Formats: sequence, structure tokens, C-alpha cells
Amino acid sequence: MKPATFDYLAVTNLDEALEALASDEEARILAGGQSLVPLMNHRLSRPSLLVDLNGLSALDIVEVDEEWVRLGALCRHRRLERDPQVAEVSPLLAEAAGHIAHPQIRNRGTLGGSIAHGDPAAELPAALIALGASVRLRDGEGEREVAAIDFFEGFFSTAIEPGEVVVDVSVPRAQPGDGTAFAEVAPRRGDFATAGVGVVLRRDAEGRCTSARAGGCALSSVPVDLSAALEPMVGHGALSDDLLREMAARVAGSFDPIGDAHVSVEDRAELVQLLLLETIRTAWARSEGSRG
Ligand SMILES: Cc1cc2nc3c(=O)[nH]c(=O)nc-3n(C[C@H](O)[C@H](O)[C@H](O)COP(=O)(O)OP(=O)(O)OC[C@H]3O[C@@H](n4cnc5c(N)ncnc54)[C@H](O)[C@@H]3O)c2cc1C
Repeated sequence: MKPATFDYLAVTNLDEALEALASDEEARILAGGQSLVPLMNHRLSRPSLLVDLNGLSALDIVEVDEEWVRLGALCRHRRLERDPQVAEVSPLLAEAAGHIAHPQIRNRGTLGGSIAHGDPAAELPAALIALGASVRLRDGEGEREVAAIDFFEGFFSTAIEPGEVVVDVSVPRAQPGDGTAFAEVAPRRGDFATAGVGVVLRRDAEGRCTSARAGGCALSSVPVDLSAALEPMVGHGALSDDLLREMAARVAGSFDPIGDAHVSVEDRAELVQLLLLETIRTAWARSEGSRG
């Protein structure tokens, strides 16, 4: 199918984009086009104007300081997956990005587009929740920061207000003693996940866990925060079978699973338990290596 007719504006700076969005309620941002264009081709989205951000190199940045990593909205999935700097300062995002679709889609799709689209099956939102990320939004009036956990409001629904643009996302920089892991189950490699989990944990010089967080995708109507299930691990210096069993039991009741054509509610709840245990074990082993 072909899209309905629309106007097109390739902007050269962010102010121009904000002005165009403010002047037309039916205008939509075009980033990688990997979600928006299929929707337009099926006439499920009929923007009057596409505001193309792809010329804004200022949004295609990775900035790092001692504590934080700032990733511009136009960072492509492929960059998150392949850039050695991203792998060093945010290995969870690099691993999660590698699970997205196929290389052709990762070459075009962007971080800002993924989170703005708000698909609960998407990997990056789950990783951002596990990392405790925040999202910076701007409109013609100014800017605001929204915690990732508050950003995803419902099925394909986010905190973005009309006229706002996702500018960048900030995540805590990985530190010595951190271990992260992302794993998912999908019908085939490159398909959308049936369930996915990302884990971030930190251990001190004695090897005790000082914090542990987790996020999940394709589990519910929004990406979910599974961190409460990991609380029993904090303070421990070893992963016993009892501890792992307790965390698996806790995660099953910590979100509202959905069933669909691929998997029932019950199977999805079991999948998340298996994925959580796998990612905790992997993150724990990696944190051992990163303590030096
Ligand atoms: C066959 C196929 C398989 C896929 N598989 C997966 C998968 O396994 N996992 C996964 O996560 N994704 C998957 N995707 C989606 C892909 O990751 C997209 O790249 C992503 O969802 C949207 O990013 P985009 O840059 O292409 O955004 P676009 O399609 O350009 O835009 C998507 C939406 O976000 C808005 N938007 C874009 N950028 C901004 C911004 N900076 N500020 C505010 N709003 C903005 C647009 O207006 C639009 O509403 C798949 C896509 C296809 C076609």
C-alpha cells in the first residue's frame, strides 16, 4: 500500500523542527522511519507533514563523563550495538540493541524513534528502565526531563506531549563492579521478542551486591520495572540456589502479564522467570570480571 499524501520538511536545526511541529497538529517527526513509514503505508498514520530530523547531527551524539552517558535521539541502533565506546560505558544498551530486528532495520532505526514509538516489545525501553535512565524532551517553550519509568504510559503511548521532541537520553555510566546482561526469547532471530529481560547489578570490593535492577519487554502493555524481584540479592556475596528461587518467585507476581497469539499468560510468566535467572547469572559473572 501507499501512504496518504503528506508534505515533507527536512530541517537543519532543532528550532526549525519545533516551529514546524507547533504550527501543525498533524505533523509527525521522521527519524529512522522503520515504524512510522509502515504505519503510513497501511494508512494507520496519516500525518499532514513529516518533519525529517535526519540532518541534525547534533542529535547523533554520544557524550560521556565520569558518571553519565548522554545519547542523542538520532543514535542508530547499529551505533549502540557496534560503537566500542558505547560497549564500554553502557554494555547493556549495546547488548539490547543487538537483539533489535535485522541489520537493515538497525542501520536506520534510532533510539529516539524506538522510545517515542512506545512499543512494549521493544528492547531499548526495557534496558533504559533497568538502567534508571531519564529522557530529555524539548518544545518551543523549554525542556523537561522524564524518568524512563514514567515515560512509558501505555500500549504505544508515552509522556511526549504534542509539539515535543525527544532530544536525548541519559544513563548512568557503567562502573567497576557493575555487571549487566540482556536476554530474550523470540520465534526466530530478528523477530520481535516474546519476552525479554535486562539486568544491571553492582558489587562492592568484597563482592557483595550493593544494587540490582531489571527491566522487561514484551511482558505487559508497557515495558516493566522488575527491580523489586531482585531486592533479596542486595547484601549477598554469592548467588545461592535459594536466593535464585526466591527472586524467580518474586518476579512472577511483579507485573501483569499479557497473552497473545505466540504465548499464553502462564507461559509468559514462566519465560520471564527463566530469563531473569539467566540474566542474573550472566550479569553476576560479568561483574566479577569488571571488579578487576
Ligand atoms: C520488520 C521490523 C522489525 C522490527 N523489529 C524490532 C524489534 O525486534 N525490536 C525493536 O525494538 N524494534 C523493532 N522494530 C522497530 C525499529 O526498532 C524502529 O527503528 C523503531 O521502533 C522506531 O525508530 P525509528 O527511528 O525508525 O522511528 P520512526 O519510525 O521514524 O518514528 C517512530 C515514531 O516516533 C516518533 N519519533 C521519532 N523520533 C522522535 C523524536 N526524536 N522525538 C519525538 N518523537 C519521535 C515518530 O514521529 C513516530 O511517531 C522493527 C521494525 C521493523 C520494520
